[in-house]
Amino acid sequence: ATAPYDDTNIFAQILRGELPCKKVYEDEFALAFHDIAPQAPIHILVIPKGRYVGWDDFAAKAGEAEIVGFVRAVGHVAREQGLPTPGYRLLVNVGQHGHQMVPHLHVHLFGGQQFHHMLV
Ligand code: 5GP
Repeated sequence: ATAPYDDTNIFAQILRGELPCKKVYEDEFALAFHDIAPQAPIHILVIPKGRYVGWDDFAAKAGEAEIVGFVRAVGHVAREQGLPTPGYRLLVNVGQHGHQMVPHLHVHLFGGQQFHHMLV
């Protein structure tokens, strides 16, 4: 079962403007900003504006407009960064086994290098 949403998590604070971020994109449904500890030349986090802990509650509870808006925002950021060609990588960590550290759904967008192994 998904834990209840914790409004004190770091991404909730960023969404409320209580903590700064290096914003790359924002719309009604999503916010995208640079990861504070980049693991690739381009490492952007895209988060939904709604209060979703992970993929499961987002998929189960988000409205269709939210889901479509979020998915399109990820695509928009990738295009804006010039990534569709040569390619990039998306990653979502979920829960304990997924090593999710921040309990607000986030898609990692990695680019600017050739990737090899899928799991590191
Ligand atoms: P997770 O392991 O939960 O999938 O990824 C969390 C990511 O959030 C990590 O890549 C970490 O560097 C990033 N992160 C943690 N705290 C902050 C922060 O305060 N600001 C930003 N921009 N990124 C953060």
